[in-house]
Amino acid sequence: MSGEDCFKILEKIFKPKNIQKIEDIKGYTIKYGIIMDGDKIIDEVLVSFFKQPKSYTTENMCEINSHGGNIIVKQILELCLKNGARLAEPGEFTKRAFLNGRIDLVQAESVMDLIHAKSEKEVNTGIKQLEGWLSKEIAKIKQEIMDVMVNIEVAIDYPEYDVDDVTIEQIANMLNNVEDKLIKLERSFDSGKIIKEGIKTAIIGKPNVGKSSLLNAILKEERAIVTEYEGTTRDTIEEFVNINGIPLKLVDTAGIRNAKDEVEKIGINKSKEIANEADLIIAIFDSSKELTDEDKEILEISKNKKTIILLNKTDLESKIDENNELLKNVSNSIIKISALNRIGIEDLYEEISKMFNLNEINFDNDLIITNVRHKNLISKSVENVKKAKESIKDNMPLDIIAIFIKDILEDLANITGEMVTEDIINEIFAKFCLGK
Ligand code: GDP
Repeated sequence: MSGEDCFKILEKIFKPKNIQKIEDIKGYTIKYGIIMDGDKIIDEVLVSFFKQPKSYTTENMCEINSHGGNIIVKQILELCLKNGARLAEPGEFTKRAFLNGRIDLVQAESVMDLIHAKSEKEVNTGIKQLEGWLSKEIAKIKQEIMDVMVNIEVAIDYPEYDVDDVTIEQIANMLNNVEDKLIKLERSFDSGKIIKEGIKTAIIGKPNVGKSSLLNAILKEERAIVTEYEGTTRDTIEEFVNINGIPLKLVDTAGIRNAKDEVEKIGINKSKEIANEADLIIAIFDSSKELTDEDKEILEISKNKKTIILLNKTDLESKIDENNELLKNVSNSIIKISALNRIGIEDLYEEISKMFNLNEINFDNDLIITNVRHKNLISKSVENVKKAKESIKDNMPLDIIAIFIKDILEDLANITGEMVTEDIINEIFAKFCLGK
């Protein structure tokens, strides 16, 4: 429970062992006692106390730890409600921490990212955001703009002082600096998206080339952590696999795995469907046979996309090799494997890392944006920087230039939540889980 009256409510239902007035109990302590409904004992519990402002929400807070189990928890909850508490909305504790100024919006959002993280890298970026690195970077950029903005305001308010070229040059320099920093943040979202969502990968190929064998080889990797999701298209399951730090979201693995029946085996049409959804296509061919028309259709589907071609069954006598022109026309990434014998799988991972520049990203030190809302606001501020620069080039009056610069400040303030509207706040916190 959080809020002004939470100890008053607690007093009605909690009897500490060594009878003590609840309001005298210090913050950051845990007390043993019983929860009572009138004369009836509900459970033996431990209650943690937090006194304002030193709590998650900055309000008075208490947490009741019971023995657990559905019935007891429900009874205690109902007892709290009966005595004046109300149920928290999803994310309301974090929302209060934000509204009461303990954390900014970026930090609040990172709590949600942490809860939903699917990989260690995602946890790392979440923790860094919770610690406030993005907020600090934004604050730095804002300060840089403010320093110049002050001069502009003076020049506008006191037109009798002519704005000399130095001021315009100052503004232009500032805008260039700010633009560099913002673009760097904007670009980091490419990596951020990969960290958060994984590389959406489709394994395609005509029946019997070895798709499910490859899938098994990937999933048997002992370091692979697999999480299943409902796919975006109907009837597909997406699996998040984390291999050697490469986050892959495999599309329609269920289709591949369950297609035992020869008639149902995932073929060209299905391949086309799942390839459309993917960031990366892994197209498999049976190298022990000549390319068929079906193989050529698979190549056609893979054209102009990020595609890795796998020549499978290289343990058998080979009929096609990596110099095949039809293959080379589609992709330069051609790898020989044997899915059955798990040969060449590491080469595949290496190729994926290369293709998505994963080796170049320093996940521990680089500033990486993972949140779409932040990315969109940063892109918008980059646009406004460009407009401001153009207005300087066009010799616009200072007050026009100032409007664009104020827009940049506003975009940045929206990221950390200083100026954000109530609707947006509600929308953000509605995505939280209950009790967070
Ligand atoms: P899918 O229909 O594309 O999913 O193909 P499967 O993975 O079911 O494989 C079809 C057949 O090819 C099975 O009998 C596999 O054992 C066999 N197969 C798969 N990979 C290899 C390989 O690397 N070498 C050999 N010799 N056979 C393979």
